[in-house]
Amino acid sequence: MRNFDKNRIESFILQNKSFYVKRDELLNPLLSGNKYWKLYALIEMPKERYKQLVSYGGTQSNAMLSIAALCHQKGWVFHYTCKPVADYLKQQVTGNLRKALDLGMVLHEVSHHDYHACVQQLRESCDADSLFVPQGGGDPIAQTGIEQLAVEIKQWQKKQSIERLNIVTPSGTGTTAFYLAQALPKCHVLTTAVVGDKAYLISQMEMLGALPKNLILLQGSKKYQFAKPYAELLDMYHDLLDAGITFDLIYGAVMWKVLLQHHSVMQDTVLYIHSGGVLGNVSMLDRYKNKGMF
Ligand SMILES: *Cc1c(COP(=O)(O)O)cnc(C)c1O
Repeated sequence: MRNFDKNRIESFILQNKSFYVKRDELLNPLLSGNKYWKLYALIEMPKERYKQLVSYGGTQSNAMLSIAALCHQKGWVFHYTCKPVADYLKQQVTGNLRKALDLGMVLHEVSHHDYHACVQQLRESCDADSLFVPQGGGDPIAQTGIEQLAVEIKQWQKKQSIERLNIVTPSGTGTTAFYLAQALPKCHVLTTAVVGDKAYLISQMEMLGALPKNLILLQGSKKYQFAKPYAELLDMYHDLLDAGITFDLIYGAVMWKVLLQHHSVMQDTVLYIHSGGVLGNVSMLDRYKNKGMF
């Protein structure tokens, strides 16, 4: 499933500062960024192992699209449960939802009221032929793939003879940052909470185990509400684009804004792991346009 250069790491200049970026958004058009690594164990699994995958979450989620691409490739049925789809999206289905449906995803809308009970039931009702993947792919199954990502980083670090390395990547569930820090105890892994606040991120990560000491949670001067349009995030996205790389508007733009506020991090070599999500920009840019911000 890997269409691009293995372990492509490039130097990147932004605001006169020098970074490296691991271009994992190029791994595969539909299954890219950290979702590639989080689903790696399933990508490697024989088709015969499962008949269907069951998951739930937001209707423009990157994890949803990645799982849809995986299931399409494997011939597995993908059942996805969500809260009621917004009217504007129903009228014109775009972005990740459009692509996932085109890949054969079976969408189940349930009312806000029934959502939690329904998810609980999904989790309990999976049989041997079906796999339940929690929201955003936040699951121990991700560990195998993230460890593979860590191997690639270690190889590069050795080749470049970099002694002190700061690795940066944004967090939703924190699964990626957590397992990466665990697999790379000699590096610092820096992240920021994009979905909830810092306390929420810590609680999510603690479900995976005790927090590694080399995992650092950065906070910015301003807290952004998840997936909401902000003029300064759009500006950040454009600055990054002008510097030569497309990042996603939801996670990437926030992570870069926070990173640029922490000068001490840049005293050592910084490697940013591109977490993907670029295809989701279509629907986010539509929302910026609808608000007259773009
Ligand atoms: C899913 C996602 C994340 C968050 O990954 P976690 O492992 O849940 O922390 C970050 N960036 C992008 C673009 C994503 O799609």
